[in-house]
Amino acid sequence: MNYDLIVVGTSFASTFFLKKYLEKSPDSVKVLVLERGKFEPHAERISRAKKMALGEVGFISGTSSGAYENNNPAKPWIFDPSFGGNSNCWTGCTPRFMPSDFELKTRFGVGIDWPISYADLEPYMCEAEEIMSIAGPANTPYPMSRPYPLPPHQVTAADKLLEKRYAEYYISQPTARASKPGARNACCNSSICHLCPVSAKFTIENGLHDVYKDPRITLQFETQVLSLDVAGGLVTGVNAEQRGEQITLKGSAVALGANAIFNAHILLNSGDDNTHTGRHLSEQVGYYGYVHLDGLDNVGGSTIITANGFMLYDLPSRKDAAACLIESHNDPYVRSEHGKWRQIMKLKFVFEDIPQAGNRVTTSSDLRTPRVEYEGHSQYVNNGYTLMKSKIAEVLSPLPVEEILIDENAQASEAHILGTTRMSMSKADGVIDKHLIHHTFRNVFVLGGGSFPTISAANPTLTLSALSLWSADKIF
Ligand SMILES: Cc1cc2nc3c(=O)[nH]c(=O)nc-3n(C[C@H](O)[C@H](O)[C@H](O)COP(=O)(O)OP(=O)(O)OC[C@H]3O[C@@H](n4cnc5c(N)ncnc54)[C@H](O)[C@@H]3O)c2cc1C
Repeated sequence: MNYDLIVVGTSFASTFFLKKYLEKSPDSVKVLVLERGKFEPHAERISRAKKMALGEVGFISGTSSGAYENNNPAKPWIFDPSFGGNSNCWTGCTPRFMPSDFELKTRFGVGIDWPISYADLEPYMCEAEEIMSIAGPANTPYPMSRPYPLPPHQVTAADKLLEKRYAEYYISQPTARASKPGARNACCNSSICHLCPVSAKFTIENGLHDVYKDPRITLQFETQVLSLDVAGGLVTGVNAEQRGEQITLKGSAVALGANAIFNAHILLNSGDDNTHTGRHLSEQVGYYGYVHLDGLDNVGGSTIITANGFMLYDLPSRKDAAACLIESHNDPYVRSEHGKWRQIMKLKFVFEDIPQAGNRVTTSSDLRTPRVEYEGHSQYVNNGYTLMKSKIAEVLSPLPVEEILIDENAQASEAHILGTTRMSMSKADGVIDKHLIHHTFRNVFVLGGGSFPTISAANPTLTLSALSLWSADKIF
């Protein structure tokens, strides 16, 4: 069988691409989807989680440990290699990127511009938000041609004071955790998002499973794609390991949606000699902060992360110092002083980074296992952190502040894997073109957050899902 398209992976990048591809393709098209993991339905995950909590079973599937070599164990890269990928364990935060995120070089003289603009991608962001039933506010710091499908989540008492002061620069967080029942249950606000107990957050299983019931698709599990077969500059199929056996599958086009570590690794295993392939591995850097409030009980939010603040995002200082996105966290935490238990606000300060060429994915001695070399984040992040600390008292002045405590230690991971197959206008500057097609292998789509030339301070999944819709739409 020679398939018209072979798709690797079954998470956001692959499934959003497939959805659009199938909408536009004739009945005769034949698509093969290869997934390295298994399908573990939500109900079984819940049952396993209960048994694990009781010590009756160990961890069975869905772990990234051992899937890659890491030169820097202090820096983990987290993903869930199974059907639906990280959609099973993600938190569901979906603020959009700002228009400036697409043109950092032009506006601030740092990083590089994307080969597409916010306006190019905007219709596809709307479509991705519709598919995921995103809850969000009417006013946002970025332009929207369509309102969010679901009403916003309730913010907390402290959020309300900041919302009043900053208007569209402090908003109820746009999220795939449903604010009211409809396509999914409403968020139960129990802060167990890595395995939502009530299936309120969007997953591939609860939102796009039907894509895989299309008769044009053949889906094979436990099949890890290792490399691409290349002949005459085009890819003719993929080499994979399926339950211990080496197999080759033929296809006229391939769409890689295996995440930024594995997409790059598959390309490197296939002789991709682009100097950028595997480089610029990056992610945001997060720091927690706690605000002790004077006499204000900070209650009332309806989900785990209630708000996003953009007050330190697009400042002129972004030429030297990373943009900061503020998150207001509403998972249970209290102060220890009697009578002041609820007079606290927990914030996370999330900084963009300028991708560094030295942070990269390479091959290892084992064809199945990528090696990750991460030297660390750049000075640009440190400058953003210092700037945030100097400005935070002023930024939070609408609150009755008793004390602001900022954690000096960055979180080990923001659980985002970005930048190893960057988009660019030409092969000299990146790996794939603006439609996510490989600059050399012109029948290979390289999907997902690896495509980001710069990474924004905002969570990546809404944008990478929109890019998959854009890419599949543009090939027709
Ligand atoms: C705990 C956690 C919380 C997160 N929260 C958020 C959030 O709130 N907001 C946000 O925007 N992002 C969040 N993220 C990040 C988000 O999950 C990712 O950006 C997103 O899942 C990337 O989608 P993807 O399809 O590119 O890759 P993945 O979700 O990593 O999926 C890759 C798929 O490819 C398969 N695969 C991998 N290698 C191979 C191979 N060689 N052969 C065949 N199949 C393969 C995998 O099994 C999987 O199905 C979170 C991540 C984690 C881990």
